[in-house]
Amino acid sequence: MNKTVLGNTGIEVTKLCFGALPLGPLQKNLSVEEGAEIIAYALKRGVNFIDTAQMYGTYPHIKAALEKVDFLPVIATKSTAETYESMGKAVNEALEQMGLDHIDIFHLHAARVDTDVFDKREGALRCLLDYKKKGKIKAIGISTHNVKVVDLAAEKEEIDVVFALINKIGRGIINGTAKDMEEAMEHCRKNGKGIYLMKVLGGGTMIDDYDDCMEYAMSLPGDYSIAVGMISKEEVDYNVRYFNGERNLEGIITIKNRKIVKVSQVMCKSCGTCIDACHSDAISFDENEKAYIDPSKCIQCGYCIAACPEFSIRVV
Ligand code: SF4
Ligand code: SF4
Repeated sequence: MNKTVLGNTGIEVTKLCFGALPLGPLQKNLSVEEGAEIIAYALKRGVNFIDTAQMYGTYPHIKAALEKVDFLPVIATKSTAETYESMGKAVNEALEQMGLDHIDIFHLHAARVDTDVFDKREGALRCLLDYKKKGKIKAIGISTHNVKVVDLAAEKEEIDVVFALINKIGRGIINGTAKDMEEAMEHCRKNGKGIYLMKVLGGGTMIDDYDDCMEYAMSLPGDYSIAVGMISKEEVDYNVRYFNGERNLEGIITIKNRKIVKVSQVMCKSCGTCIDACHSDAISFDENEKAYIDPSKCIQCGYCIAACPEFSIRVV
C-alpha cells in the first residue's frame, strides 16, 4: 500500500489509517477479541497506521491486535486532558494499556475547541513536550474540527502533526467551509506539519458517496493519509482494495448497514450536556424537552454518547 511521510516528523504511514473509534464502546462496542481480530486483519493486509484516543476505549483491542502481528504499526492517540498532571496520566495510560514503550503521535484531543486551546492546555502541551524529550512520544499533534485551530497550529513550533476534519461538503467543520479548511491545511503543510484526515466520509454518513468523497480527499495537495473507521473484515477489504488503486468495487460495505445515533426518550434527563458536546449542532430538545438528534447533521462521532451522564445515547 502507498505510504506518505508525515511532514517533518520522518514518520512513514500508509495512506489508509485504521480509525479505531467505531469498533469501541462509543459505537459498535465489539469485544476486545472481536476488535483485535479486525485491527490485526487490517495490519496483515498492509495498513501500518492506527488512530485512537483515550476517550475511545480501544486500547485493549489494539494491544490484543499487536500480539497477533509481527511488526509495530504507527499509533496515534489523543487526550482531552488540560493540565500537566492529567496529560501525564493519559500518556501513561496509553503506554500501559497498549503495552508500548513509546507512542508515535500524541495529540491534544481538541475536536471543538477554540483558538485559545494552546493557552488553556498549556500544561498538557508542556507535559507532552517533556514526554517527547524523554523519547516516550515521537511527535506531538492536535486533532481538531476547527479551521482556525488548524491555521493556528501551522505557526505553533511545538506541534508536529495535525489531524484535521475535512470532507467534500464540509460536514462537521467548525469556523469555515471545506475550502477554508483546505487553505488552513496548506498553511500547515508549507510549515512542515504532518497532516492526516478524519471524517472524509462524514463519520459514515456520506458512505453512499464513497468514491466521490475519497476522490476529493485524495486529490488534495499533500498526499495525505486518511483515517477510516472500520468495524468488519469486509470493510477492511473494501478500503484496502480501494486504497490499492482498485475501482468499481463490488459489494456493499457493512458501514451502510450501520444504524443511527439515537437518544432513549425514557432515560434522557434533559440535562443538555449532549447539546454542548455536539460540534455538529445536531442535537436539540424536542417538544418534551428530551434530546433529539437530527440524522442529517449527525456525523456519528460518538462524543455525545461519551458525554451523556445517563448513558441514554446509543448507536441503534
Ligand atoms: S449527535 Fe452525537 S454522534 Fe452525532 S455529531 Fe453530534 S455529538 Fe456526534
Ligand atoms: S446528555 Fe443524556 S440525559 Fe442529558 S440531555 Fe443529552 S441525552 Fe439527555
